[in-house]
Amino acid sequence: MKVTADKIFINAKAYTLEAEGVCKEAIVIKDGKFAYVGTNDEALANYDAKKVIDLEGKTVLPGMGDSHMHFFAFCQTFTTVDLGGAKSKKEAIERLAAKAAETPEGEWIKGSNFDQSKWEDCEDQLPTREDLDKASTKHPIVIKRVCLHSAVANTLALEKANIGKDFVFGPGGLVELDEDGMPNGILREQAPKIYDEIIPDPFLIPENKAKYMKQGFDLAAQYGLTMIHTYAAEIWKYTEDINDYIELNRKGELPVRMTIYLDEYFNKPYVTEAERQDPYRAAQMGGFKSFCDGSLGSRSAKLFEPYDDDPTTDGILVIDQDGLNERLYKAYKMGLQPATHAIGDKGLENVINAIEYCLEQGKKDGMTDWEQKDRHPFRIIHAQMANEEMIARMAKLPVVLDIQPSFFLTDLHWIKERVGEKRALDSYTWKKYQDAGLIMTGGSDCPVEIFSPWNGIFSCVARQDLECWPEGGVQPEEKLSRYDAVCLFSKNIPMATGEEDLMGTIEVGKFADMVVIDRDIFTCPESEIKDIQALNTYLAGKETYRRA
Ligand SMILES: [Zn+2]
Repeated sequence: MKVTADKIFINAKAYTLEAEGVCKEAIVIKDGKFAYVGTNDEALANYDAKKVIDLEGKTVLPGMGDSHMHFFAFCQTFTTVDLGGAKSKKEAIERLAAKAAETPEGEWIKGSNFDQSKWEDCEDQLPTREDLDKASTKHPIVIKRVCLHSAVANTLALEKANIGKDFVFGPGGLVELDEDGMPNGILREQAPKIYDEIIPDPFLIPENKAKYMKQGFDLAAQYGLTMIHTYAAEIWKYTEDINDYIELNRKGELPVRMTIYLDEYFNKPYVTEAERQDPYRAAQMGGFKSFCDGSLGSRSAKLFEPYDDDPTTDGILVIDQDGLNERLYKAYKMGLQPATHAIGDKGLENVINAIEYCLEQGKKDGMTDWEQKDRHPFRIIHAQMANEEMIARMAKLPVVLDIQPSFFLTDLHWIKERVGEKRALDSYTWKKYQDAGLIMTGGSDCPVEIFSPWNGIFSCVARQDLECWPEGGVQPEEKLSRYDAVCLFSKNIPMATGEEDLMGTIEVGKFADMVVIDRDIFTCPESEIKDIQALNTYLAGKETYRRA
């Protein structure tokens, strides 16, 4: 008697990732899980299905993931003019003017992701209100820099916010004034918040929200993603509401498994074992997010020694050591998994200290070894710079490092100038992490970078930018193998949430999440890895994307 299954895939080149090099021919899916993985003959001898799909030798991988991004914030960028990729100030202003031409007079226009350091006509100077007035004087316009630490408003937007002569923002931010005391349009650090309060939120209109979330998910499925760990960040008004995802999941319209991290304390709902094992349940709460420092791009990542290209600063700690210890420990005691942002070497050291503090304090408060082992690992987000001593300390701790290989595609151009030769060598040292036995997961921090796992894998393997520069890669000794790089974006991600028994590889009993791609990622020319396209993406056996 043959067993009735939902789908049988034959003639696949399925890299299961259970170990390096394991490749299978046939996959059988039943009730949202992998029921059989092996040979064509056995699959067809033992299973029956309405759908038998001949993959004609195409490559299959487990569903891809992104271990750190801001999904809701990404969807909100669809309501703004994306200025990312503009090659000049002129081009950015043209994009805004085009939007103004199709927008009723008086309505707000928002621009996002501008990066004047990549503009060829402005010598790295921020644009001013006069520049934006060229796009329109009839629409209030506000644009935000890619790092979110600065924004620029046009004259009408300044008027709407009552920002006039001699305006003072107060602590934490700056409204720049010219010699006459008039605002020039540039708002720094906390000052852009003024606009978060007065520009109407386009997502208050439910149809808008549904439309743009669908657009975001369609793109995620198109990149082969089936797992996303998404983060709220209150300081940037990056909200996340699990009910949005639960509702989509209930309607059968959630194509990606979403795990939601908040930067406030919350009571984590209890999940039964049956719920945990349900392949059709795709929305859940994760842990508790904290910031330790800033970013290298805006010289706010906290370093032991000052920046090489600005000796007046060594970065910013957003919370002192004691404060961080207590913040993490409170979460840990509540049973919430701490996930903490650290980019600079000093920032990372403080996070390591805080994790050690949590473990020690937990023991003092009566936690047993067994209870501590049973917890999900501490997550360190970014972990971009670490010396050998710090690597050794991390290797002894229950941690997962959520790294952003796609940052390196950009940062490799200026990292040496910013932190000097020696510290650059201690940055993005993924092979050293790997060799120390540290578990890394791959993420994009989208909307900072697009959530293409293929770009991320390429970055780990080639250590070049997307134009394949420089030849041979930066610090080639830090390259990861293709297998390890693919695992970063698949197999390793569920290790951060204690779900490695459910997903991440193609094995019997696991959720039937997988992606069919257009070339063999293990044998194609290295430069092609970033160009890989998903042909079909499946979540719990259901097709979520098919390339037309
Ligand atoms: Zn982030």
